[in-house]
Amino acid sequence: MFRALRIFVLLTVLVIVGGGTWLTKLRTTSWERPLRVAVFPIDADHSAGTGRYIRALTADTYQPVAEFMKQEAARYGLPLNAPVEMYVAPQIGRVPPPPPFGGNALQVILWSLQMRYWAWVNGKFDGPPPHARLFILYHDPERVTRVSHSLGLQKGLIGVVNAFASEGQAAENNVVIAHELLHTVGATDKYDARTNQPSFPDGYAEPEREPLLPQEYAEIMAGRMPISESEADMPRGLEQVLIGAKTAREINWLK
Ligand SMILES: [Zn+2]
Repeated sequence: MFRALRIFVLLTVLVIVGGGTWLTKLRTTSWERPLRVAVFPIDADHSAGTGRYIRALTADTYQPVAEFMKQEAARYGLPLNAPVEMYVAPQIGRVPPPPPFGGNALQVILWSLQMRYWAWVNGKFDGPPPHARLFILYHDPERVTRVSHSLGLQKGLIGVVNAFASEGQAAENNVVIAHELLHTVGATDKYDARTNQPSFPDGYAEPEREPLLPQEYAEIMAGRMPISESEADMPRGLEQVLIGAKTAREINWLK
């Protein structure tokens, strides 16, 4: 009897969580209303430079992401004029649990649950309730030349972005932010994980271009502009990035 009850309770919880996730997915990819995105800056290294940079952040810093989504939505004929609204939330004083890169499936599932809980506790925002939450860990470029990988989860609509605390790198940060944001609404990566080279044709912004290489734009989920079979350049900013047809289908902009 007790066992049956326990199983019943577990199943109920699963149905509620599963149903909630499914409903959220429907709601956030119907594009009938703008997707509200709250950005939470986090000081990752407590250097003077990072602190100064975070204090100077405004909504304008992330506006290019909203502009990019607007321009691409228009290109795909989405009736919604502004598909994404960006909001800056107050700085968070702690860092999220580190993702288990290279970990096994169970470690990844446990981390994802832990991350959703962390986001629920720390991702408080006074403005209109956000659909997606992006936690941006800022690093001082005077101290590090590379930052670890960023990631975006569709379950829970959460992104963790590692970025550089520098005005000169804000445009590149926004490319990463747009990429992780698109993961939260269902877009998948379109590059070869071993070589970082964009996959053909889905990772090419203009797969029908002649000549095919070099490409003039980067596909957002490939992240780079292929210039030859084995080389690709990072875009300087979102003005050199497009959303490809496959990504547009994944986020429900194209049927
Ligand atoms: Zn990705």
